[in-house]
Amino acid sequence: MKTVGYAAHSSEANMVPYHFERRELRSSDVAIEILYSGVCHSDLHTVNGDWGPQPYPLVPGHEIVGVVQSVGADVTQYKVGDQVAVGCMVDSCQECDQCHNHEEQYCREGMTGTYGFPDRISGETTQGGYSKHIVVREEFVLRIPEGMDLSKSAPILCAGITTYSPLRTWGVKEGSRVGVIGLGGLGHMAVKLAVAMGADVTVISRSTKKETEAKALGAKGILASTDEEAMTAAANAFDLIIDTVPTAHDINAYTPLLDVDGSLVIVGQVGPTGELNSMPMIFGRRRVAGSLIGGIAETQEVLDFCAKHNIYPECEMIQMDQINEAFKRLEQGEMAHRFVIDMSSLDVA
Ligand SMILES: [Zn+2]
Ligand SMILES: [Zn+2]
Repeated sequence: MKTVGYAAHSSEANMVPYHFERRELRSSDVAIEILYSGVCHSDLHTVNGDWGPQPYPLVPGHEIVGVVQSVGADVTQYKVGDQVAVGCMVDSCQECDQCHNHEEQYCREGMTGTYGFPDRISGETTQGGYSKHIVVREEFVLRIPEGMDLSKSAPILCAGITTYSPLRTWGVKEGSRVGVIGLGGLGHMAVKLAVAMGADVTVISRSTKKETEAKALGAKGILASTDEEAMTAAANAFDLIIDTVPTAHDINAYTPLLDVDGSLVIVGQVGPTGELNSMPMIFGRRRVAGSLIGGIAETQEVLDFCAKHNIYPECEMIQMDQINEAFKRLEQGEMAHRFVIDMSSLDVA
């Protein structure tokens, strides 16, 4: 199937239009016409080569929303016209303990990412959502609940599940004290989801500049990490801290903010964190952990949760040809919203 998207041809190059082929439908495949594609900070990191060499040309995008265009002979869950979504992975072994446990993101053989990974059967590089169409096996297709606004749903597929999964894993409930470091694409979703679970949520940021935005999302306010007095006063104040900062930073300032048995979960930055002081961990049984997206079942759960609680990411709609500009703005700093590409702005011709 011929399609068109935007690809990076090297780590230095701008994103440009790219014509390519999607695979012929296998019997368990679903072909999707993409309507909206969210812009994740990891798209930027990946095309820039920050996480190692990439198989260019590369079409990023793993927050995908669209409509089923056709289905393979053995597909049972989806039919033409259904509103569907695809997130950060498109395949896994389906046979190991992690896959059986609905944690395909931790598949023992490694999950297949939505872009930049070898397809498990053909070996071809997977290409993501900055394109008109995608073909994905049925097991990795999600359903957009009835009545949900498609134009605002895409960022749930990465920013949503990445923050929802640790909130669930660490048992956030009514009255839990949750800190969210950073108020970007991930952070703003963490706030909304934790608030909907009944938690007391505080945003932790360099300054109180975004206090109005934080409160509008349902947070109690902002704890400024540069305000030493406020940081000292906030010792032991949190059961869970979700750290969404996408770049290298010192986490030692935050661990004393955890109560006994509290956990700080890193979901933003991938790579070395610098030297970790064990003192707060030992004196308080505090933990530093990480978390990667969520399984397919849990991704469906967060979509259903957002539909039920009327939660949407804050989206700024852009045209496909504005992507390079959007990447620049993303690089310059965190925004309390997500760019979403309106794929109808990409001309097939
Ligand atoms: Zn992402
Ligand atoms: Zn597996």
